[in-house]
Amino acid sequence: MSERADVVVVGGGILGASIAYALSRLGRHVVLLEERTIASGTTGASFAWLNATAKADNAPYHALNRRGLEKHLALAAEWGEAALGLDGTGSIHWSHPSAPDGGPKAVMDRADQLAAWGYPIVPLDRAALAALEPYVAFPEGSKGFIAPLDRWLDAPRMVRRMADATRDEGGDIREGAHVTGFLFDGDNVVGVEALPYTVFAPTIVLAAGTAIPALAARARRSLARTLPIRPVPGLLVDTIPVSRAWLRHVVYFPDGAGFHMRPSGECLSLGADDIDAAHAGTNGDTLLVGTTALMHRASDYLPDFPALELASSAHARIGVRPMPEDGLPIIGPLADAPAVYVAATHSGITLGPYLGDLIAQEIALGEAQPDLAPYRPGRFGQ
Ligand SMILES: Cc1cc2nc3c(=O)[nH]c(=O)nc-3n(C[C@H](O)[C@H](O)[C@H](O)COP(=O)(O)OP(=O)(O)OC[C@H]3O[C@@H](n4cnc5c(N)ncnc54)[C@H](O)[C@@H]3O)c2cc1C
Repeated sequence: MSERADVVVVGGGILGASIAYALSRLGRHVVLLEERTIASGTTGASFAWLNATAKADNAPYHALNRRGLEKHLALAAEWGEAALGLDGTGSIHWSHPSAPDGGPKAVMDRADQLAAWGYPIVPLDRAALAALEPYVAFPEGSKGFIAPLDRWLDAPRMVRRMADATRDEGGDIREGAHVTGFLFDGDNVVGVEALPYTVFAPTIVLAAGTAIPALAARARRSLARTLPIRPVPGLLVDTIPVSRAWLRHVVYFPDGAGFHMRPSGECLSLGADDIDAAHAGTNGDTLLVGTTALMHRASDYLPDFPALELASSAHARIGVRPMPEDGLPIIGPLADAPAVYVAATHSGITLGPYLGDLIAQEIALGEAQPDLAPYRPGRFGQ
């Protein structure tokens, strides 16, 4: 079956769905090809904290993430928070004088930087922390802040909502459509092959997460220059349903290893940077080791919470981040294959819908977006 589209989007995660939706809104005929089901990749295994709080060392990237967060709030105003699974009233960051992360100074330095950029921040002493999270054991001298703008998202629900809206605008969303290669006219890419589909289009967007480097190499017919996107695994653990009273916000804890928790529907979700790096694996044993370690930390900070009893019933899964070498998005056409437009990022849950708008304007209207200027593939010579 051979057909034509204005744009083919490869990948049905938050980035691909956002791009397809924004292009459809601009009147372009889009075919999105997803090899499994919508939101079954990294987007379905994400902590999904919407924030600009973690980006305090790079002003333009912080601003981009803030616009990302604001785009989610705008979509929620249009579609309703429940339809998107948008939830939460901020994220809490705190420490205490004997904490392994170095104590409150680093936390409050970050608060000062964020406040200087105009990001809403409320400093909290120990009593104020305890009032917001009454079940957390805050030691003497604890200090921190809440970033009240931050939220979290049921990312698969949001992406399915976007896919439906794309169909309503006339777009095609196809699941079970594995892109195996590209169609060429001479050296130029003019379409994609995804058995049983052959789709010709002047622009092909690669929003395939960790599969982007391999797909880009096929589009260039060369392995010589590989896009620098590393697969970085992460372990996400959900408890069985528990009372929402145990924890009410996204909370980052001062264990020096990035331990974090948040409510997730009726459950609690947990993760930690060091466990991502050291324990994440794909077999049942490593999942159990990581899950148990996370539950031990939960019981350190929430002493009355039955974390250890819940460990065996918790749901653990691995997500693999598409992580650009410098941690920043890679967005734009490839210099040696200009029909192929790459869209790869970490923090994609926060950034996806806003990047989708910018990318659609570049592709559909030919208007280069200044917000994307720092993130071109050209910075890697590509
Ligand atoms: C543990 C963890 C925690 C995270 N926490 C946060 C957070 O708190 N906040 C935040 O903003 N971000 C967070 N992230 C990052 C965020 O989840 C990702 O940046 C985002 O999900 C990437 O979305 P994507 O659409 O680019 O990729 P994906 O969701 O992986 O989508 C790519 C899709 O392409 C499809 N595909 C691949 N190859 C092909 C092919 N050949 N043909 C057709 N389809 C193909 C895949 O099946 C997949 O569905 C986290 C990630 C992890 C793993």
